[in-house]
Amino acid sequence: MRARDPEKRRRDFKEVALGLTQAQALKEAKRCLQCKKPRCVAGCPVEIDIPRFIAAIREDDFKGGLEVIRKCNMLPAVCGRVCPQENQCQGRCILGKKSKPVAIGALERFAADYEVTSKAPDAPVSIEPNGIKIAVIGAGPAGLTAAADLAKLSYDITIFEALHEPGGVLTYGIPEFRLPKKIIHREIERIKKLGVKILLNWVVGRTQTLDELFEEGFKAVFIGVGAGAPKYMKIPGENLNNVYFASEFLTRVNLMKADQFPVYDTPVKRANKVAVVGGGNVAMDAARTAMRLGAEKVYIVYRRTEEEMPCRLEEVEHAKEEAIELMVLANPKEIISDERGYVKAIKCDRMVLCEPDESGRRKPECSGEEFVLEVDQVIMAIGQTSNPILVRSVNGLNTWGAGYIVTDNEGRTSIPGIFAGGDISTGAATVISAMGAGKRAARAIDSYIKELSLAKK
Ligand code: FAD
Ligand code: SF4
Repeated sequence: MRARDPEKRRRDFKEVALGLTQAQALKEAKRCLQCKKPRCVAGCPVEIDIPRFIAAIREDDFKGGLEVIRKCNMLPAVCGRVCPQENQCQGRCILGKKSKPVAIGALERFAADYEVTSKAPDAPVSIEPNGIKIAVIGAGPAGLTAAADLAKLSYDITIFEALHEPGGVLTYGIPEFRLPKKIIHREIERIKKLGVKILLNWVVGRTQTLDELFEEGFKAVFIGVGAGAPKYMKIPGENLNNVYFASEFLTRVNLMKADQFPVYDTPVKRANKVAVVGGGNVAMDAARTAMRLGAEKVYIVYRRTEEEMPCRLEEVEHAKEEAIELMVLANPKEIISDERGYVKAIKCDRMVLCEPDESGRRKPECSGEEFVLEVDQVIMAIGQTSNPILVRSVNGLNTWGAGYIVTDNEGRTSIPGIFAGGDISTGAATVISAMGAGKRAARAIDSYIKELSLAKK
């Protein structure tokens, strides 16, 4: 896919990847073999009929292709940009066995973006509401998908969202240069057209409890509150001035527009030399954001090697093109302070890789050597964990690990009528896996309501 020149893009927040041209999309779509038993579909957590949407594109019916996608996925322009297709649909494409798989993600993005440029009018929505109220907690990909699918089944859906904007990580975590906000807004507006209501600034567990929602007449609840709380390394110096946790750093810039301070009220500390600790998508996003805020030097400090990095290949390639330096086999052990309590440097152990651990990746161990890297800002991006506000407010809800909700594959929790899915039940995962969970839970909620209605007759 075409991308903007790294020299120019690393200092602004405009989108980096430019998408396929119409000619490229047609050529790519024609590579698809239209398999009778398409392996790609089995790799898609929301079960898009991939050969059908590609067939429509080859016939120049871009809008038709998008309609096929939208039957299963109401966030195609988002997924076409951020899904790790290489591990999912594309990873299973039969063509990948001998050469390059079909670029399914890029085609999905093309179909979604084409609709905007073509300005084709929307087909009118005609849903006969059944008046049964279902509450969805959290407007991230899991909640939005559950809400859209339930609305299509005629339910009266209200989403309760803690922040002042919907979208979850799509809005507050993933930066504008990867996923422009207008794209998220457009897809959410379409979900609202299905009749879904979104109440913002509404922290369920504080503003209102689940019990109160049931008392107000909601017949079932889907919890999709994600895993947005930061994880700590618990090393000395983690509380110094100018140490950020990636979720806070990214939220300041993405949601609160701190890059435009003082036009917007929220500031963010700009630094010259920044160390970002971690090797996932969050670390890449934080590093590339720090570069765009004007840092002269940005390091990614990661304890394994580039090969083991959990981020998408495209993200690390883009980061390197933008002059971000990978400092691999390095594990921070202390953040060093200057005399005023601000970050001055980060001390790291040099690591070596040993036998694979339970994650299947080779385990890093200290080599016995250490080194000091002079930096004036550290951003910790070693993962996120569950936020306890809602979970702790519900009696009898079974949890595992750090407060994640136990569910079956369809999102049923230990309490009848309460369903959950996405990062709050799996731990930090992906946009599409959260959407898949929302979809399965919507089906289970529909069955639950039907059983409830039958029992009452
Ligand atoms: P979330 O997206 O976290 O949404 C949960 C929502 O619930 C939030 O809006 C939150 O404000 C709200 N909420 C929380 N508590 C309450 C409450 N008590 N009451 C009301 N509302 C509440 N995945 C990919 O596939 N590709 C990527 O490129 C990618 N990049 C990422 C980059 C970053 C910086 C981060 C942090 C994650 C990234 N991920 C990526 C992971 C992906 O975004 C998540 O797995 C996904 O968003 C999980 O969706 P969710 O709906 O479960 O939760
Ligand atoms: Fe087309 Fe690949 Fe899917 Fe076969 S597996 S239908 S070639 S995208």
